[in-house]
Amino acid sequence: MEQNQTGLSAQGASGAPRGTLQRWLTGPRVDGLPQLAAQPAPALSFEFFPPRTEALEAQLWSCIRRLEPLAPRFVSVTYGAGGTTQARTHATVARIVRETRLTPAAHLTCVGAPRAEVDEVARAYWEAGVRHIVALRGDPPAGMAQYEAHPEGYAYAVDLVAGLRRIAPFEVSVAAYPEIHPTALSADHDLDNLKRKIDAGATRAITQYFFDSAIFLRFLDRALAAGITVPIVPGIMPVSNFTQMRKFSAMCGAGVPDWMGRLFEGLEEDAETRRMVAAVVAAEQVRLLQANGIDEFHFYTLNRPDLVYAIAHILGARPRRPD
Ligand SMILES: Cc1cc2nc3c(=O)[nH]c(=O)nc-3n(C[C@H](O)[C@H](O)[C@H](O)COP(=O)(O)OP(=O)(O)OC[C@H]3O[C@@H](n4cnc5c(N)ncnc54)[C@H](O)[C@@H]3O)c2cc1C
Repeated sequence: MEQNQTGLSAQGASGAPRGTLQRWLTGPRVDGLPQLAAQPAPALSFEFFPPRTEALEAQLWSCIRRLEPLAPRFVSVTYGAGGTTQARTHATVARIVRETRLTPAAHLTCVGAPRAEVDEVARAYWEAGVRHIVALRGDPPAGMAQYEAHPEGYAYAVDLVAGLRRIAPFEVSVAAYPEIHPTALSADHDLDNLKRKIDAGATRAITQYFFDSAIFLRFLDRALAAGITVPIVPGIMPVSNFTQMRKFSAMCGAGVPDWMGRLFEGLEEDAETRRMVAAVVAAEQVRLLQANGIDEFHFYTLNRPDLVYAIAHILGARPRRPD
């Protein structure tokens, strides 16, 4: 019988097609990612959105309570497009301060308000004990095609960062775009904008979500070359509703690789399997990033804790008991 270079028969005893074992045994060996236990648990942060109804409020709080024991570095609460959730964002953040051991970060945008009003909101946060702001330009409200700065407002996030610095010594995080902001003049201009936000006083960038880790790692290289040295924390979006996510990604400029379409194909009516697939996709993504030295992750929770909890667990996070 014909022998291959491994000394095994090319026609296996099971009658498998000729050459199968040879192909398996002589192909490149993938060493795999480092052992899970070998990596220290990363720092985590979680993003929530302010609820619109009582039912959603209950869902948010059950999400917060489930994730709280993982002791995230901070949790952030978004600000609706056009500043539409100002009161709800404030109420949610204030309740986090009052009722949990978590450190909240309030998102704040420039859209649709004069500087004096934005400053007032920031001062109210400081007085409520909030010390961390995620400073954003913001998206235009529904119905407005293009962003237009308020005539007396902060025009861009960089202006808001500088304004916050004048109000109080907030910790300030800003947004970054590994795949470039959709309306940026160029990739270099966008990176220069990030650098200016850091130079204005931001101490952390949190990225738009992405699915191709190589794009994020290349972005880190470019950021470092541009003189940015603060942490650029990857924003991770576990995807359980692929169809919805694809629509949203088209608007915010996040690329959806073809392989993801193939992965979720045929699961439109099967939420349970989609969730399992989503867990694998996100776990592979964060494991690859972790293997590349990334030790801080920001999760877009969409107020649903289970996938995030599982992925954080895989990364090594374990619940901490209150002291
Ligand atoms: C982590 C994260 C959290 C977010 N949270 C929210 C939220 O809570 N609420 C919300 O509404 N949106 C949120 N967004 C979306 C964000 O508001 C939008 O992506 C918005 O379009 C840009 O905001 P920015 O802070 O990045 O803006 P900026 O940093 O101001 O940049 C916006 C665009 O303008 C360009 N630009 C900057 N300065 C100039 C200039 N002088 N001339 C010309 N172009 C310029 C930049 O290159 C970029 O293309 C979030 C995004 C991220 C990544």
